[in-house]
Formats: sequence, structure tokens, C-alpha cells
Amino acid sequence: MDRFQLYIDGAFHDGAARFPSLDPATGTPWADMPEARAPEVDAAVQAAHRAFTSGPWPKMTASQRGRLLLKLADLVAEAAPDLARLETRDTGKIIRETTAQIAYVAEYYRYYAGLADKIEGAHLPIDKPDMEVWTRREPVGVVAAIVPWNSQLFLSAVKLGPALAAGCTVVLKASEDGPAPLLHFARLIHAAGFPPGVVNILTGFGPTCGHILTTHPRVAHIAFTGGPGTARAVVRNSAENLASTSLELGGKSPFIVFDDADLDSAANAQVSGIFAATGQSCVAGSRLLVQAGIKDAFLARLKAKAEAIRIASPDEMETEIGPLCTARQRDHIAATIAASVARGAKLVTGGAALPGPGFYFPPTILDCSAAPDAPALADEFFGPVLSVTTFETEDEALAKANDTAYGLASGVFTRSLTRAHRMIRGIRTGVVWVNTYRAVSPIAPFGGHGLSGHGREGGLAAALDYTTTKTVWLRTSDDPIPDPFIMR
Ligand code: NDP
Repeated sequence: MDRFQLYIDGAFHDGAARFPSLDPATGTPWADMPEARAPEVDAAVQAAHRAFTSGPWPKMTASQRGRLLLKLADLVAEAAPDLARLETRDTGKIIRETTAQIAYVAEYYRYYAGLADKIEGAHLPIDKPDMEVWTRREPVGVVAAIVPWNSQLFLSAVKLGPALAAGCTVVLKASEDGPAPLLHFARLIHAAGFPPGVVNILTGFGPTCGHILTTHPRVAHIAFTGGPGTARAVVRNSAENLASTSLELGGKSPFIVFDDADLDSAANAQVSGIFAATGQSCVAGSRLLVQAGIKDAFLARLKAKAEAIRIASPDEMETEIGPLCTARQRDHIAATIAASVARGAKLVTGGAALPGPGFYFPPTILDCSAAPDAPALADEFFGPVLSVTTFETEDEALAKANDTAYGLASGVFTRSLTRAHRMIRGIRTGVVWVNTYRAVSPIAPFGGHGLSGHGREGGLAAALDYTTTKTVWLRTSDDPIPDPFIMR
């Protein structure tokens, strides 16, 4: 079996114990993973704190930090094929997607390399004649970054890039499911020449490793991606150290198709919006709202496309849907479908797990238009399941789109420019895609509200999340300081 190590204070460690990682395509162990427990987590946080307060990192200029990030970007681009193979092997995400996504991860590091020396404070036109006042944007401190099992390299880049650009140090916890690509990525951090302790990479279990990390007194900010349930635990944990938090959580994103839309484009966008990454995507367009008059025509297109999707081993370039990451995930999806069918939802296609080996689930379309209480319309599957409902009017479309506790992303398909603008204004999600879906860029902020979390990843906004403002007052008068008990 392949063997991986933790990365703490610039050195590689075996961890407190070892656990096997399963290949989701076969359900069998393929790699031997290190587990971080209390001593390893503490060592990593202390190393990050030392690196933040002493040694070369705090003395570096922002431009020097940028150059380290550029070097890392080049190393990621060079290692992209190896990283893609590892992520596919350990998580089941198909090779076509890991190859494209990891090549793009390098662009996130490039973007934040360029941003490092543009995180500026401001000079204030203060209301006192003998004072100069300005603000400095300073790094917030040690960051605990926690990612779930899907797209770990990408979800780490959107945290590490801005955190390092801002001058923070980081302890990154990979999920216990599929940690191989991040543990391999530690070698690139090492090779890029970051001083020891600036980036530490762990894996281990949520209730132990994750809990200890997020309650640690030396952690100043927690950047978390995962489900809302875990996010609640993380926010409770942050009551211990009063760390600030940014939370990127799940979604039940509405994909709204009006009867004037280009239905072929909309169908293609919907199919990739829900079935890409085998549906294990926070922005999955998992709730189709289709105008009632075109429901049958649109569903017929989607059914034909869904049934033509090639389900096969994730390591083949032609594969379009691979296995789910875990058996637990497969069983959760099957149970939510069954509960929805019991409430009156109708299966258009798919609906049952495929026989093993491996954790395969076919593209599934569930017509919930006569089942408004079906859990499929409210709960995130995090799998290849599209829940469908209908609307008659624009107001009804907006009301249904916003009838969710989540607020991450939405898609609107229409040829009417004025309607598009009304929908953009009315929809309560952090990202709105119009006549497109699932586009992302390091330049564009990304994030949600409600059960989808808070804070933004991408763009300048993300880098500012890793800073704190210091206000400087400098007295310019040479006159003696007057009597302190007279305010002026
Ligand atoms: P989880 O919330 O279960 O886990 C996320 C991370 O938190 C994992 O590393 C996990 O460790 C860790 N963790 C678990 N318990 C604790 C704890 N008590 N304290 C600290 N850390 C803990 O998410 P899933 O792995 O199930 O991922 C799927 C979820 O992630 C979905 O809801 C999805 O929508 C969301 N997501 C959101 C994205 C966004 O950008 N908005 C992007 C991608 C996914 P371990 O794995 O070891 O349990």
C-alpha cells in the first residue's frame, strides 16, 4: 500500500496511529494514512505560531511572500497530473475533472501571489489638525483551515492562497476521507521553500483532530468548508479561542428555466450543473425550477442526456460519472430518495445504487412537482440527484427559489434581459449565474449566506478575511502635550 505522512514544522511525520484509505472504485484499502491526535495537532499549531511570531516569515516583504506563492503555483502546475491521479484514486472524482481542476488550482496561487503586495491600508483625512492617521492591514495570525473530502486541493487553495498572501501561517486539516492529494501537496510546500511551520498539513478524525485544532488557544481564524452540522460544532469550538470564522457550507441551489430560454443550452448546463463531480459539489444545481409549460419537453431532454452518461472507473478519461466517495454517502442518498418517493415524488430516471464493487450511483431525476414536502427539495444530497419542481410566474419562481435555508448559488436561464435583472435582484444567493452555471475564477468572490455559511473565497475579499486592521495615530506637533484632562 502507498504510505503518506503528516507535515509539521517543515518535517514529515508518521502520526500517532495509522488508518487505511479506501479506493471508492473498488471499496478496498489502497493507502496507509497517518492520524494526527492531540500531540501532533498541538505541535502543528505551536509550529505555526512560532513561524508567525519569529524567524524569517514575519520579516518577509509582501512581494517576497508573493514570490514564494508563484513558485508554489509552478510546482502545482508541474505536479498536476500526479496530483490528479492521486485525487481520483483516493476520492473517486473522475480523472477528466481532477486533471482540469488541479491545472486551474495553480491559477489561484498565481492570483494570490500577485495580490500579496496589493493588500493596502488607508490614509484617513482625520478631523484633528496635528495628527496623521492611517490603517495597516496585518495578518490575523494562525489559521486553522479545514476541508471536506471533495476537491481538497481546490478547497485548500482558496484558503492557503489568501492566507499566505496576507502573511498568516496555516494548519490545514485534510478530511480523513481521501487525504492523499493534500498529503502529497505537502511535498510541494516543502520544495517551494516556505519557512518551517508556515504551512502544516494534517489528517485525522473530525471529533479528535478537528476538535482539538478548532479549540486551540493559538488559533486566530478558522476557515472551514463542510456541512452545516459540522459548521455548528466548529462555531461552538470557536467559543473557546474566540477565533473568527469563515464558513463555506452546502447548498440546495435553484436552477431556474423560463420558457423563453435556449432549452438545449439550459439542458447541457443543468446536466453538468448537477451531475459533474458525481453531484458531490457544493454548488450543484440540485433544485430544477422549470416553467410549467415546458416541463415535459425539458425533462425529456434531461432524461435522454442523463441516461447517456458513461458511468465507469474514475481513472478513464472517457468516464463521465464515477463512484461516490464513501459508502456512507451512497446510503444517505438512497435513503433520502426513498423518503421522497414515500411523500409522492416520482422517479424519472435512476434512483437505486448500482451493484458493487465500488460506491456507484446513477444519475437520478426526481419529479417533486406534486410532492412539495419531499425532503429531496429541501435537503442537500451531495450526489447525482436532481429534484424537479415547476412554477407558473416570475414571482412564483423567485418565491420557490428563495424558499430554502441555504443561499449559496443559483442559475437563471432566460432570453429576456429585463427579467434576468429582476431575478438577479430578487434571488438571495451569494452567486448568481445567468445563462451559464458553475463558472468560477480566482478573481471572483465566492460564498453564501444562511446555512451556506459566511465569508468569501476568491478575489480581494478573501484576502481581507485573513487580515486585521491596525489604526495608527501619529502626532505631528512639536508642542508639549497639553493638560490631559482637557479633551479637544
Ligand atoms: P463535513 O462537514 O462532514 O466535514 C468537513 C471537515 O470537517 C472534514 O475535514 C471533517 O473531518 C471535519 N470535521 C468533522 N467534525 C469536526 C469537528 N467536530 N471539528 C472540526 N472539524 C470537524 O463535510 P463532508 O466531508 O460531508 O463534505 C460535504 C459537505 O461540504 C457538504 O455539505 C458540501 O456542500 C460542503 N461543501 C461546501 C463547499 C463550499 O465551498 N461552499 C465546497 C465543497 C463542499 P473528517 O472528514 O475527518 O470527519
